[in-house]
This record gives sequence, structure tokens and C-alpha cells, in this order.
Amino acid sequence: MPLPVDVTSSALNLLFLSAMPQTLDPDLRRALADRVRYYNELGIYDFYRRDVSVEAPSADDATSALLTFDSKDDMTPRRAAAPAATDENIFQVIAARPEQSESDPAKALRIIREDLGDCTRCVLHTQGRKQIVFGVGNPKTDLMFIGEAPGADEDQQGEPFVGRAGQLLTNMIKAMGVSREQVYIANIIKCRPPGNRTPEREECETCSPFLMRQIAAIKPKVIVALGAVAAKTLLAMNSSMAQLRGRWYDFRPAGVKSNDPNWTGAKLAVTYHPAFLLRDPRQKGEAWKDLQMVMKELGLTAPAKNS
Ligand code: URA
Repeated sequence: MPLPVDVTSSALNLLFLSAMPQTLDPDLRRALADRVRYYNELGIYDFYRRDVSVEAPSADDATSALLTFDSKDDMTPRRAAAPAATDENIFQVIAARPEQSESDPAKALRIIREDLGDCTRCVLHTQGRKQIVFGVGNPKTDLMFIGEAPGADEDQQGEPFVGRAGQLLTNMIKAMGVSREQVYIANIIKCRPPGNRTPEREECETCSPFLMRQIAAIKPKVIVALGAVAAKTLLAMNSSMAQLRGRWYDFRPAGVKSNDPNWTGAKLAVTYHPAFLLRDPRQKGEAWKDLQMVMKELGLTAPAKNS
């Protein structure tokens, strides 16, 4: 059985490097088993090297004049049983993810949702969240949008991007020549932070493994990261929006492998968060440039005006 390679933890590296030997210190072995169990708790079952390579900026001379996104809308179960990591079956555990063998993305997403359960993995479950907002849309889509966290409306309705910012996102998607139902929409974290505060790093780290699994199940061609929190979390880069926008990134979901060997990852673009565009509509032209870059990649054309 080929052993997975881990670069996320030097301790695990050590484990794999010493997979052949006979002489793993029992304390170290126990500590490593605990670490693997911890990752499994976070929904991470496979370990592999994560590449985030930055491509040259894509030339795109889109103008801001074409789109304003300013229609009237603008205003207004239980955890699936993952085998417990024990000293004895440590290698077996990291090779298995509940949805790994499921080729139907819709079914894979259901398995991930079930694994998430009534999540209590971070503090947000004690801080007034009404429900988990998992994600919505077409599981077989080429195009995913990823935001930051549910707000009050999303928490109420259990669906991402349904409030004012969501209405703007829906218009942005329509302007690209597709419907909201044709794409998949999710967030970095699945529970509303109190007062809509920015998610804490620990909350992102705890929750995003489930998003990574959703991405690996859907296997999109393109991901659009909406805003700085989404972009920085997905790319593990701490750059400004000005630096992050306007170019393509090769993205592979951290900690998971798709069961489709033909899917080598998605191209990722960064654009402004719709909530930011509501606050500063002058930036809509810049966002439209980002979306045109995506449309070009996917062969999409904007619908004729008045259609
Ligand atoms: N903002 C987000 O980032 N996500 C939502 O679902 C709603 C608002």
C-alpha cells in the first residue's frame, strides 16, 4: 500500500519516514497517533503535499463600464463512523475518508454533511449560531464561489449568501451568463460568528477541512474566492487584496485527495466580497474584471442586455 506523504506536520513526516523501522519510540508513536486522531476529528483523513503555485497574471483588459450589478435587487445526523486512530491501525485510518470511494458528487456531499453532524468542534456552536450553513448549488458544477461566513440571514435560512450581499452575488453570477443554481456556493466557516465578526483563525482551521472535502467532491474547474478572508485562508497567503486579485492560482484542497485522478485541482481567482462592493460600489468595475477573467476561462458569455 503506498503511504501518503504529509508535510503539514513534521511529526507526521517523521512517522512516515520511520514507517519501515521497527524502532519507533512508544511515546512518540502514541503522540503521533493522538495527532492523527486530532486531524481525523477535523475531517482530515489523507495527508499529502500541498502545492500552491502562483501563475503569471492573466492578461485581461475588461473594462468596468459593462457592468454595475446594480439592479433593484442590489438594494434591497451524525458523524459517520471514521475508524478510531489507534496505535494499531494508524496507517489504515489516514488512508480512509468516508466519501473517498463515492464518485457521485451529490452523494459525496451528503456523506460530508453527515460527517459534520451537529458540529461542536469550535466555539461558534456556543455563540448563538442557529444552524450550520453547509453550502448550496450544483454538485457537478465547474464553478464554485467561496465566501467568509454566514451572516444573520444565512444563519436564519441555512443557505449561504441569501442576504443583501447574497443578492448582489446572485446578480454577479447572472451577469456572468449563469444562474445561481448552476454554481456551488459555500463559505470558509459554516457557522455565524456572533455580531458577524471576522472568523478567528482557529475557527477557519477547524472548519475549512470540511470545505476542502466539499471542493474535492465537486472538483470544480474554477473557484472564486470572495474577499480577503476566503482568499487568504484558501491560498494560505497573507497578502493584500490588491496583490491577490488579477491573477490565477493553482489550487488543490489541503489535506484531501479527489477520488478522480483526472482532477488535478482548480484554478482560483480572487475578487472583492459582495458586502464590500455594497459599501463601495465604485469597486464593482474591478470586480467585473475579475469575473471576466473567470468567464474567459470557462467560455462563458454575458447575457445580452435586457435578457
Ligand atoms: N457573507 C459571506 O461571506 N457569506 C455568506 O454566506 C453571507 C455573507
